[in-house]
Amino acid sequence: MAKVENHIIERFETQGLGSVQKDDLSQLLKICHDNLDHVDDELISRAFRLCYISHEGENRASGEPFYLHPLEVAKIVASDLAIDDESVAAALLHDTVEDTSVTLNDIQNLFGEIVAHIIDGVTKIAGVFESRDTKQAETFMKMLLSMAEDIRVVLIKFADRLHNMRTIHHLPREKQLKIATETMELYAPLAHRFGLFKVKNEFEDLCFKVMDPNSYKFIARKLREKKESRESFIREFMQPIKKELSEQNFKFEIKGRPKHIYSIFKKMQRQQKPFEEIYDLFAIRVILEEPHKKEDCWRVYSIITDWYTPIPQRFRDFISVPKANGYQSLHTTVITQKGRKVEVQIRTRRMDVIAEKGLAAHWKYKEGSDGTNPLDKFIHWVRDVLDNPRPDAATEFVKDFQLNLYQDEIYVFTPDGELKTLPQGASCIDFAFEIHSEIGERAMAAKVNGKMVPLRQKLEVGDQVEIITGNKINLNPDWINDVVTHKAKSRVRQFIKKKEREVADEGREIWQKRASRGKVKISEQELTRVAHKLNFDSAQELFYKIGSGAFDVNDLFKAVQQIKSMGRFEGDQKEERNEKLTEDELQQKFISTARSGSDTGKDLLINGEVSNVKYTYANCCNPIPGDEVIGFISRNGDVKIHRSNCKNAHHLIQTDSERIIDVKWARTIGQQFFGAIKVIGEDRVGLVNDLTDVLSKSMKTNMKSINVSSDSGMFEGILTVYVNDLDHLEKIIDRIKKVPGIKNVMRYE
Ligand code: MN
Repeated sequence: MAKVENHIIERFETQGLGSVQKDDLSQLLKICHDNLDHVDDELISRAFRLCYISHEGENRASGEPFYLHPLEVAKIVASDLAIDDESVAAALLHDTVEDTSVTLNDIQNLFGEIVAHIIDGVTKIAGVFESRDTKQAETFMKMLLSMAEDIRVVLIKFADRLHNMRTIHHLPREKQLKIATETMELYAPLAHRFGLFKVKNEFEDLCFKVMDPNSYKFIARKLREKKESRESFIREFMQPIKKELSEQNFKFEIKGRPKHIYSIFKKMQRQQKPFEEIYDLFAIRVILEEPHKKEDCWRVYSIITDWYTPIPQRFRDFISVPKANGYQSLHTTVITQKGRKVEVQIRTRRMDVIAEKGLAAHWKYKEGSDGTNPLDKFIHWVRDVLDNPRPDAATEFVKDFQLNLYQDEIYVFTPDGELKTLPQGASCIDFAFEIHSEIGERAMAAKVNGKMVPLRQKLEVGDQVEIITGNKINLNPDWINDVVTHKAKSRVRQFIKKKEREVADEGREIWQKRASRGKVKISEQELTRVAHKLNFDSAQELFYKIGSGAFDVNDLFKAVQQIKSMGRFEGDQKEERNEKLTEDELQQKFISTARSGSDTGKDLLINGEVSNVKYTYANCCNPIPGDEVIGFISRNGDVKIHRSNCKNAHHLIQTDSERIIDVKWARTIGQQFFGAIKVIGEDRVGLVNDLTDVLSKSMKTNMKSINVSSDSGMFEGILTVYVNDLDHLEKIIDRIKKVPGIKNVMRYE
């Protein structure tokens, strides 16, 4: 085979750098020296030079020269993640093997085995960014595998994604949504598990900005408006503490920052509260400089609580018992003299570095580890997840996994006093599976703190747990509702599937006997159709119901006879179509009541123009003009319009990205839409009347429906109203807020 001449490598031997690139390089080297223990200037300079030469002539979507992307990624690796100089070199070259004629072999010859190995790993995790049809779950598995091999691979991937997210506004909207969704569902939870809180928060905010730009802008604006009063409050709060700490010769830094935008948004949604009641929840952090030790954190705690009253239930000591990702800190919430709650975190500088850089900070302590290093523990945990048989559906696996990534942890003990970490909400069954899968399968009962308890009992911090096992497998399908860990869930699910198969096999035997007695012969295909006719998902489900006694085999026999006598399953298709038509009719009915006009294709621009494509609005999220929207081409060619922050839309983006279509609201819209509003307030006579009046008289709109529940003097109602657009809806919300007795009004999702 003829070897392709490699001009890039030829040029690498001879070509120097221009003055702009020389500046770029010296800036990068400075960041390296500021953050890393050891820097091989020569290695990084050569990597930078190859990076520049190999990408010469290429541009990014923004129009900038391409090499600026790997350069920025390398800067993130050097500063935010601070791993080592080989990772910085690998970051500079992370796109060369994939995108240029430089081969992995070239890299190995020029930069050695380790750099080549890392780049190989990064190249293999082909994310959606590079190839559109990569399924998310698959990417995820690859990430996990590479993590278990070399954690630096994943850290570079984080940096790569972070820079791509920071520059995402240059891409077309469909692409933005797809990347943001993947980042939110994959990268953010993983960064969280890594303890990379800064990176995770930035991921979330950047994604949120893409998925729900209006809410993002709203919160960002509000935060700017409140900046001054927030800062003066922090100054006032800290002033006596600062004075006292200085008098006692502490060396320290104090930071007070609001929560990140996405977490404020989630809180608003979860608690159904407006921004004003959430925004001032922020944490103040006291960081003790070297050579302060952990015991000094308690001294600071005591100084703070001399001044402000602590809430005892909110005290958490992550110094004595660090989180699995290595996080250490003292947490407390105190109340000021004016009754405001403030969360205070106290930690040393070293703890703070670990809190911001997470497991990456442990990279350098890798040598001489005895299994207690959080990084080793994490890798062990990844291997463990991969070793356990996965459920059939890869997506289910990802879901469980994400759940485990976000969960808070509790600490419990074995009878020998060994510490085990479990997610919050874990039961004795989870604990049993955590010890060993065989213990889980044979578990009969449990003793918590010496007392017999049912297996499904949830565990609390500090519980000492003993599992009592029998000789036989005692797994119970009902356990699926009592377990939260991935390990336990996948075992129980497996068991359920096996049980169902057994029961279905019995059902099939019962049918076969009945069929031969009645001298009926029927093919597997025909059976499936009969099953569908009888409203089962599959023949398997039908047999399961027969096997478990929930469906009479004689009814199946009758159905088969009837269909056979009508002649070879004819009419099936027709009836099925009828069913579908009814569904369509229902949909039409919904549309005509929900929207007063007809959908003639005038209120939306599809791919930038008014078109004759038929479209309908998704029932799940009810978009109205002003909402960010996207369209999905349905199987019959119609377009379905969703709000871009709709959960179902996210799912579609992941599974059927090629069906996304760009839609925008046309400027003039004549027709009305309907929006739902949630109202909370004090219940009183005439309240509903007042609401109706406000709508019809001052807002000139009509209410389609109202659902109300009132309980111990409180009123909660969902109003559905006709609106022109988002602006109109917001005006209505503002107006309803002024109705006497109303405490809270918000758009109902
Ligand atoms: Mn890249």
